[in-house]
Amino acid sequence: MEHTYVMVKPDGVQRGIIGEVISRIEKRGLKIIAMKMHQIDEETAREHYKEHSDKPFFEPLVEYITSSPSVSMIVEGKDAIKILRSMNGATNPVEAHPGTIRGDFAIETGRNIVHASDSEETAEKEIALHFNDSEYTRYSRIDEVCLYE
Ligand code: UDP
Ligand code: MG
Repeated sequence: MEHTYVMVKPDGVQRGIIGEVISRIEKRGLKIIAMKMHQIDEETAREHYKEHSDKPFFEPLVEYITSSPSVSMIVEGKDAIKILRSMNGATNPVEAHPGTIRGDFAIETGRNIVHASDSEETAEKEIALHFNDSEYTRYSRIDEVCLYE
């Protein structure tokens, strides 16, 4: 099964949308196998967003993502990476369809509530950056027999 890294960013935590995000993931049938609330430190933020290090929004992004706690999760399921990206919606909430998290709850790109890994390679790196092995769980969800054919 595929694993992806998902974050409710500081704006999502501050605005009380943690439960909404978790609820959507659970109801979709995806399995949360690790979860924690933590304030991301500067070094970790720079590593997490290093592909954007030369962009004008990089410094404000690092400052913002470290400004208050986030909630990090590892989510497991068939095609979990693609599904979480589509559940989050477009990076710019103005372009995000209603029904997506960003399309329902956000207005500006710099305050778009959620993060999810964009590929298998990124997911592996992001999971290793934010979690250690002892933070994983392994279990079966009782509804897996109905979710998968
Ligand atoms: N971002 C921003 N301004 C921009 C583009 C991106 O503040 O013009 C922030 C935004 O929080 C976004 C993150 O940088 O979610 C990473 O950008 P990316 O293009 O990788 O979008 P994502 O993968 O989060 O959809
Ligand atoms: Mg990205």
